[in-house]
Amino acid sequence: MKRVVEIGEMDRRSVLHPFTYLKDYAEGASAPTIVETGKGVRIKDASGREYIDGFAGLYCVNVGYGRTEVAEAIARQAYKLAYYHSYAAHTTEELARLSDRLVKMAPGRMSKVFFGLSGSDANETQAKIVWYYNNLRGKPAKKKIIARERGYHGCSVVSGSMTGLSFYHDHMDLPVAGILRTGVPHHYRGALPGETEEAFSERRANELEALILAEGPETVAALIAEPVLGTGGIIPPPSGYWPRIQAVLKKYDVLLIADEVICGFGRTGAMFGSDLYGMVPDLVTVAKGLTSAYVPLSASIVSEQVYEVMQEATPQVGAFSHGYTYSGHPIGVAAANAVLDIVERDDLPGQAAKKGAYLLGRLNAEFEQNPIVGEVRGVGMMAAVEFVPDRGSKVPFSPALKVGARISQAARNRNLIARAMPHGDILGFAPPLTMSEAEIDEMVFIAKAAVDEVLRELY
Ligand code: PLP
Repeated sequence: MKRVVEIGEMDRRSVLHPFTYLKDYAEGASAPTIVETGKGVRIKDASGREYIDGFAGLYCVNVGYGRTEVAEAIARQAYKLAYYHSYAAHTTEELARLSDRLVKMAPGRMSKVFFGLSGSDANETQAKIVWYYNNLRGKPAKKKIIARERGYHGCSVVSGSMTGLSFYHDHMDLPVAGILRTGVPHHYRGALPGETEEAFSERRANELEALILAEGPETVAALIAEPVLGTGGIIPPPSGYWPRIQAVLKKYDVLLIADEVICGFGRTGAMFGSDLYGMVPDLVTVAKGLTSAYVPLSASIVSEQVYEVMQEATPQVGAFSHGYTYSGHPIGVAAANAVLDIVERDDLPGQAAKKGAYLLGRLNAEFEQNPIVGEVRGVGMMAAVEFVPDRGSKVPFSPALKVGARISQAARNRNLIARAMPHGDILGFAPPLTMSEAEIDEMVFIAKAAVDEVLRELY
């Protein structure tokens, strides 16, 4: 107990925590959770309390906690060669193998892989590659990047600007210039009365086309989008959305950056979200599931079409001048190879499709008729329940009531981690893809008790 108190005090004095109310934490109004161990779908804190992790960390521990084969691959590489850089064509066997594997498995016609450490830096790299590509092919005005409202692409300077959630911008001088915004494809909230999913998708595609035409197609370089919108509320696209959006992009020579940071490596029930929706991206961003977060690693995957231009320009522009000390870090790529061995051997995409259907079925059974549930949605092992005071009008709860946060806290009090999504009153689920049906039952049972508790408090 003394140790726990000491760690907490040290932490409070010295750690600047992401997404934490700083004053509350500094003054002791909120407490640290000291996470010590993880096994399967559960984590344990320093007091011995165990939680079901219904969000796989931050939708990333796809193979579950405590996989010894991944830990051993990391240790093997650390003993053999903990570090060397990948500048000027230095490589390792694990780096070459992983890149070859990603080029073959990624959606679209991919050619090369650039490695970073986070989804944010990988999207930052994608923006630079898009600008580089258009400079090299003599289109220096074609630079604007379109992103979607409620899209999440990270929180560094350009990736944070592409993110379409205003609290990532406020007081931080974002977004930077050159980022355009188009509508979120959320049928439940965005459709006109009686509008079908297909008609709504058509309208979103028309809006995208109008935006490109208003800006001038010669100034618009790319659209960045998650196949399934994640942090903005776990929103699968309405039917017919991606084919229509891609037709518009093709018409105006606008690249598609598929941000597969959450969707990649099985979460949607396909290997990539792009595979599920017939997307043919020009650039693909991956992170999270690439190593199941056992170590930090991300990748920006570049298509043949884009890479060809980069290669051919070498005599004029010299070396590709972008890279990090840790690009292609030997321990990261070794971890990724070990994780992808599990993803492929155990068919985690197939498991996610089957168990995701079970999860959605259970959520529908428990919540569809609940008076404060507006929508239950999901695909594969990502699902959400959206709360509203009046199912008819769909008008949201007053933010002051903090309904989503209270439900998430009530679940946590019952040892379940389910995320209060940051926009609206939405409870999100994105557990490890290895979660069993019995564990799904346990998770949904606890979530139901948490919703009932807050429902009783509200009425
Ligand atoms: N892109 C998407 C779709 C994400 O969900 C995230 C993180 O949640 C990111 C990018 C940013 O990744 P990171 O937090 O590793 O910078």
